[in-house]
Amino acid sequence: MVRKRFPSYGIIELLPQHIRHVLSAIPAIHTGVTQGQVEPIMNYCSECGAPVALAIPPGDTRSRHVCASCGMIHYRNPKLVVGTIPKWENGVLLCRRAIEPRYGKWTLPAGFMETQESTADAAMRETLEEACARIEIGEMFSLIDVPIISQVHIFYRARLLDTGFHPGEESLETEIFHENRIPWNDIAFRTVSLTLRHYFADQRNGSWQFHTMIL
Ligand SMILES: [Zn+2]
Repeated sequence: MVRKRFPSYGIIELLPQHIRHVLSAIPAIHTGVTQGQVEPIMNYCSECGAPVALAIPPGDTRSRHVCASCGMIHYRNPKLVVGTIPKWENGVLLCRRAIEPRYGKWTLPAGFMETQESTADAAMRETLEEACARIEIGEMFSLIDVPIISQVHIFYRARLLDTGFHPGEESLETEIFHENRIPWNDIAFRTVSLTLRHYFADQRNGSWQFHTMIL
């Protein structure tokens, strides 16, 4: 499956568009489904181009897309979404999205990790792409499992090196928000609002913790 870069982290919104179209017709997605039920649809083998079919390979316990022609088993593994919480004084840098989903909503800079990249490098790259912001990366702050969509979201604390940030191609605005000005009702994704709530709580307590959650 070829995935367009898609810096998103909601529920259905995290999935590639052709899959979202299919899933949007399934009410159960909103009430919770077990892992494995939400499977991307694959029609053709990426090795040989022949049709694939769902089957449980010998010795396995889950259905996989198996090629009827070359026998290739196409395993699907979770995706990582990585971002930063760029700090400036007591505020953090947020980006207002210039793309769907959640056009016009605010988010931390984050997106899908690329191959051959570390999580910290991915977080810095996304921060540069979405907010043109230069940062010093800090400790990993939150790790949020989103099993319903087979994703893991990771946010790093970071320190802005200067205030020369400005919107990248996928952002309408970039702005520093102190806690009392965070647009809580206009945060694009739940993983971001949860991360921000923990961040400001830790900042008030003067004690930084590592937060793990399952949505
Ligand atoms: Zn094949």
